[in-house]
Amino acid sequence: MQDSLENINIRIENLRAEINRHNTLYYAQDAPEISDAAYDKLIHSLRNLEAQYPQFLSPDSPTQRIGAAPVETLGIVVHPKSMLSLADVGNNEELISWYNRVDKLLSGQKCQWVCEHKIDGLAVALTYVNGNLEIAATRGDGERGENITQNVKTIRSVPLTLAGRAPARFEVRGEICLPKAGFKKVNAERAVEGLPLFANPRNAAAGSVRQLDSRITAKRPLDLYVYNLGYAEGMIMPETHWEILQFFKSLGFRVNPNNRLVESLNDVENFYRYWTENRETLPYEADGIVAKINPIHLQEQLGSVGREPRWAIAYKFPPIEGTTVLKEIKISVGRTGTLNPIAVMEPIYLGGVTINSASLHNEDDIRRKDIREGDTVILRRAGDVIPEIVGPALSKRQGSEKEFSLLEKLFDKEKGRPACPSCGSEVFHGEGEVMYYCTNAACPAQLQEHLQHFASRTAMDIRGIGESVAAALLNAGLVKDVGDIYSLKNQQIAGMERMGEKSAAKLIDQIEKSKTRPLASIIYALGIRHVGEEIAERLVKRFNSVDVLMKAAYDNLTAVPTIGPKIAESLLAFFKIERNRQLIEKLRMAGVHLAQPAQPESEDLPLRGQEFVITGKLQNFSREEAEEKIKVLGGTAKSDITKNTSYLVVGEDPGSKVARALALGITQLNESELLKMLGMYKRI
Ligand code: NAD
Repeated sequence: MQDSLENINIRIENLRAEINRHNTLYYAQDAPEISDAAYDKLIHSLRNLEAQYPQFLSPDSPTQRIGAAPVETLGIVVHPKSMLSLADVGNNEELISWYNRVDKLLSGQKCQWVCEHKIDGLAVALTYVNGNLEIAATRGDGERGENITQNVKTIRSVPLTLAGRAPARFEVRGEICLPKAGFKKVNAERAVEGLPLFANPRNAAAGSVRQLDSRITAKRPLDLYVYNLGYAEGMIMPETHWEILQFFKSLGFRVNPNNRLVESLNDVENFYRYWTENRETLPYEADGIVAKINPIHLQEQLGSVGREPRWAIAYKFPPIEGTTVLKEIKISVGRTGTLNPIAVMEPIYLGGVTINSASLHNEDDIRRKDIREGDTVILRRAGDVIPEIVGPALSKRQGSEKEFSLLEKLFDKEKGRPACPSCGSEVFHGEGEVMYYCTNAACPAQLQEHLQHFASRTAMDIRGIGESVAAALLNAGLVKDVGDIYSLKNQQIAGMERMGEKSAAKLIDQIEKSKTRPLASIIYALGIRHVGEEIAERLVKRFNSVDVLMKAAYDNLTAVPTIGPKIAESLLAFFKIERNRQLIEKLRMAGVHLAQPAQPESEDLPLRGQEFVITGKLQNFSREEAEEKIKVLGGTAKSDITKNTSYLVVGEDPGSKVARALALGITQLNESELLKMLGMYKRI
């Protein structure tokens, strides 16, 4: 027994040492080695052990302390009122039991709540004296923070002088964050300078603010959202948290416009659910929501326990970052022949899906991030965005990991040269380019990608051709380029594995229908490098047929809005290749519509300037058809609601977009109203 207790004590001490090391890396150096989810696991193990063996509890334990001691070089600020952390819950049951505990402490007194985003940045306390910013300090260990006044003064959303009558001396607290776009920019600049990249916007924000040279901070596009009052002297403050926030707004602070005053726990759950699904639309990273009790007297009644106030709770979003093992880097062939490194990983469950592979972009990127085969890596999945490897977890490196070389990977011993992993052809690398290409236009891997792209919804919309049918058509030798699908015969398809007469007839029907796809979809389907859907539309507005487009000179192309030298050169190069010209002839002979009647200038179109978003299922046409009709009339169709959206079209079983439209006050249309709008305009 004694022996095993000793072992437990050792385990606890080891965990504490490990957590303290990560705390220093995270809070003092802004350079974490492990993901937040992995860190949270360590903390939970320690908490569990301490709860089970209270004899080993210690006030020094990282479970009892906030953050890390402040760095002396910046200057120390002693907080007049401690800056606490937040208790957090990770699921609905935990939220309910937290609520029940609070309810009991309040003896059932009901109250309103304020729901806010838990912005992933760093906490700051701003002291104003007679309306002027006097001190800005980090949270540090909760009692003592770092003096970052000079740096904070460079942030535009921090008012240096307040707009209205304010308490003689007061402290406002908030979160400094680096918006997602700014984070990308800062990391891109660091990459150019050969500096290590920031793991996430929170570390980037902290690293930017905790600088000795405020000129560096000034260059970073930081933001501040205020969310709490620290203390106030010389003025009676409002009695609710919500009113305090409105007061802050009147003084010129930025208060999050997404905050909501709600009535019940149910509303808190709905707020959480909505933002779990829509957090990607936010300009900043948020790792959860915070629910706060609105009446200040109830907040005071509840007080705090340890390092956490009892009147607020953070409800964390499911993690989108985690660590896993990178088993191998494989090379896949893209539809334009690019040889793309792909990370093959131990499966990991992140943000609601299991991930076992991720694109690594190119060799330079792999080198820059120093990612090696065998590494434990930090993986991040942001919403629908493709999972991304942030970098290696250096603390897990054993020494046996293998550095990556694309040419070594592609090296074919028999041929004595680098070769395409699909067809064995030679590989090409243009001077100054980062990508390598397979030189064989008939490479089966390339062709398969191209065929799938050609048939995809927003291209030729031939739904019967997915990954397996595309592979089967190629394997059976029925398709040698995408134009061949127009000569496919019913019996040929019916004879393929897992295909019958019925599905063959359906596929032939879809292929036939695709011949009248809008010209922009056809141009997009060709798979010209850098020509996406939007560019294809721009081209069609200027050039009404593929023939005219093929003849367009460099200057004609670059005269089209948003088309620059890169796209123009790509178009010229595409149409110069004999094989591509033959493909266009093949499409023409098959009856694919390669021209469309001249469109009136968009200025004359009735839906010009109107932006539509569609949610739910429509009865009269598919979403794509509706979007096309909107576009023909000069409108635009987008997939996400923003403040620029003019209308949300609501079909059957709509998604969460309805709530967002409501929140932003956007007009909603049902399908018949949309039809009327389109029909009415058709008659004009
Ligand atoms: P926390 O960041 O999870 O929560 C408290 C903080 O939330 C506050 O201090 C405040 O800055 C912030 N916040 C954002 N929006 C807010 C709002 N609307 N109202 C109130 N507060 C708001 O807690 P913590 O103790 O600062 O840090 C723990 C977090 O740091 C965990 O997520 C943990 O995973 C991470 N961490 C990671 C490592 C690592 O090595 N990866 C190391 C240490 C800590």
